[in-house]
Amino acid sequence: MVSERAYAAVALNRPIRTEFTYAVPQPLRSSIAPGARVVVPFATRREVGVCVRVLGEPGMDPRRIRPLERLLDEEPILPGDLLELALWIADETVCSWGQAIAALLPASLKREVARRSIVQIEATPGAEGALASLETDWPKQFRVLRTLLEAGGPVERVELLGRTKLSWSPVLRLRKKGWVRIRRVPVTSDPLLEGEIERGPPPRLTPEQEAARDAVTAIVRERKFGGFLLFGITGSGKTEVYLRALEATLAARRSAIVLVPEISLTPQTVARFRGRFGEVAVLHSRLTDAQRFDQWRAIREGKARVVVGARSAVFAPVRDLGLVVVDEEHEPSFKQQQVPRYHARDVARRRAEIAEAALLLGSATPSLEAWRDAQEGRSRLLRLPHRVGGGSLPEIRVVDLRRETGPGRAPTLLSRPLLSAVRDAVRRREQAILFLNRRGFAPVLYCPTCAATVRCDRCDASLTYHRRHRRAVCHLCGEEEVPPTKCPDCTAGGLLFLGAGSERVEDLVRREIPGIRVARMDSDTMVARGAHEGVLGPFRRGEIDALVGTQMIAKGLDFPNVTVVGVVSADTALHLPDFRSTERTFQLISQVAGRAGRGPKGGVVFVQTHQPEQDAIGFAVRHDYEAFAREEIEGRRSAGFPPFARAVRILVEGKDEDRARATAVRIRDRLLGSSPAPEPGKSPALPFEVEERPLGGLAPGVQILGPAPAPIARIRGRARWHLLAKVAPPSTLAAIRAVLHDVAEGSWPGCEVTVDVDPVSVL
Ligand code: ADP
Ligand code: ZN
Repeated sequence: MVSERAYAAVALNRPIRTEFTYAVPQPLRSSIAPGARVVVPFATRREVGVCVRVLGEPGMDPRRIRPLERLLDEEPILPGDLLELALWIADETVCSWGQAIAALLPASLKREVARRSIVQIEATPGAEGALASLETDWPKQFRVLRTLLEAGGPVERVELLGRTKLSWSPVLRLRKKGWVRIRRVPVTSDPLLEGEIERGPPPRLTPEQEAARDAVTAIVRERKFGGFLLFGITGSGKTEVYLRALEATLAARRSAIVLVPEISLTPQTVARFRGRFGEVAVLHSRLTDAQRFDQWRAIREGKARVVVGARSAVFAPVRDLGLVVVDEEHEPSFKQQQVPRYHARDVARRRAEIAEAALLLGSATPSLEAWRDAQEGRSRLLRLPHRVGGGSLPEIRVVDLRRETGPGRAPTLLSRPLLSAVRDAVRRREQAILFLNRRGFAPVLYCPTCAATVRCDRCDASLTYHRRHRRAVCHLCGEEEVPPTKCPDCTAGGLLFLGAGSERVEDLVRREIPGIRVARMDSDTMVARGAHEGVLGPFRRGEIDALVGTQMIAKGLDFPNVTVVGVVSADTALHLPDFRSTERTFQLISQVAGRAGRGPKGGVVFVQTHQPEQDAIGFAVRHDYEAFAREEIEGRRSAGFPPFARAVRILVEGKDEDRARATAVRIRDRLLGSSPAPEPGKSPALPFEVEERPLGGLAPGVQILGPAPAPIARIRGRARWHLLAKVAPPSTLAAIRAVLHDVAEGSWPGCEVTVDVDPVSVL
């Protein structure tokens, strides 16, 4: 007898774009359903997969079908809307349905036993004494131990490995020698949920805020999809609009998700939401499996109806989703850098469409993608052009570093106008922030005799000098060495430390302004748990005069007593051979500038640059996002880059340079052979070789650039080649999707190939 429910199509977390069919044993047939987890045999192993369809007919020879072993969920764990969302992600990002589903599920649902603890590593008492003995012969163990000693307390495993860019084995060796202790620590609470709650009556909305809230809540109540872009300058009260729209969503008995960049997921942010809504689920990368699962379950059961979190919170299984907010939607951290390489902003939009919910994107410097959507009517533009309380945006002064030289015409890192502004601010008992997007002391070790720079042996990068450790460090692979005293090329002495990193800026400020109280925030100084608050607390209380730092201080900080902000170099991102470098520069200057003048005393921003004529700088100085967007969008249009075309980057990495290049060429040939109709090449805005001959076999609007060596041509001894496919109307991604899947799933001996749709970086 044929049963309606005799077979199940199961998606597995494997890079194979197909589902696998299993027979459903009789007793399970009444409960199997799409969205339920099952244990199935696969080759010689067992795997946890998710049933995506229940079938009557197997669609293949039934004798070749094996039965599934277990059904893990009586009730489907994944609701239908999330299954559908996963399929969309698989299509959009070129991966399998199973891989996309795996990204949705909390880890503990993918294993049979959930972890309830984290691993911490700590230096043992007396380990300082061992440091010197490790230095020359065991550099990796040395790096681990030094990091632990600097942290002055236990450090989490992920944190330690991420920071040192090392594997686990040096840690184990250190344990064997007795210099470190490794512990499993049970974790039950989440520091983000333990902070104080920020209560107090909500402020009266300005008319602009009110209009924005009303537009969004109307959509939430009507239960249909609607997209909005809340374009509000820094300090214009965007967060307050989110809070009110959330209130209205709860009042309409619907749920909401708020996505914020990981970096701004601080106790202060969370406190603001908890103050209004009480029970708020918080999802972020530092939860243990068990914590994440607890949150997930509370959300799934409808106990928490407001979810705040980083990128992956877009998958929170809320019931009756009514609103998705994406704060700082332009942030590149919303893009996941591993499979599935989704962009949370795009997933949020799709999810809102499926749920018939409102999507609210917010930014002071919208991404060109979001801006164009608003221009073309795919979302509605809501503006907050004024700071609340009548404060104005700070004046921005450009300092031309070509004219600012120090003694003997040496280049200066901190110009006189900036230094004297900081000095005056301190005298008035006000505060300053100095931003530089580079850590370390000096980014370049330069030989004045032969003009060579000291470079990493394994990477296409120069070594940065870190003075505190007296080491030259590669920021790509983490490798470090005692800085050479002689040029490795010509053996001449007298190497120079050129350029500035945050460490040098801190040092300079100290020397130029005696008595000033300075603190530095970058990933070198913020190792220990609680280190952020250890600096921001005193800064808030006025015990620190000036804060020097990297991206960490670029956004979110709201200190009314900061009246001077310095962008030490606006040029760091400008020259990156990436089509988004101008956009990034504009965003960064605008965001950093937004830290000044948030109180009644106003503020002034100094932007130091060697290229004051650059558009990105000029527009940022005038606070003119719209003019910037107009011009940059034109440039993208003529070059055929996003948001006018979809871009797909294919990266080939391999130990053997020739093989990597040959593989990239083979991939290009596959892409070229993939579809009909020729298209002549256009000039690219990237250093790619362009095929000048008409490319046979491409759909109209599809263009392949490269292969070429990636801008960073080598990392950890692996050569990197890449190609860029651009897909412009009338074609869509569908024109090359099948071949992209083949490339992603293909076997490329000796190489690793990644397909990245809509990359946020092409370095
Ligand atoms: P943004 O997210 O645009 O940077 P916020 O929402 O954080 O701005 O608002 C900046 C500051 O102004 C916050 O301290 C907030 O509490 C306050 N604020 C926001 N809206 C109002 C309002 N309508 N009246 C008074 N204060 C407000
Ligand atoms: Zn390196």
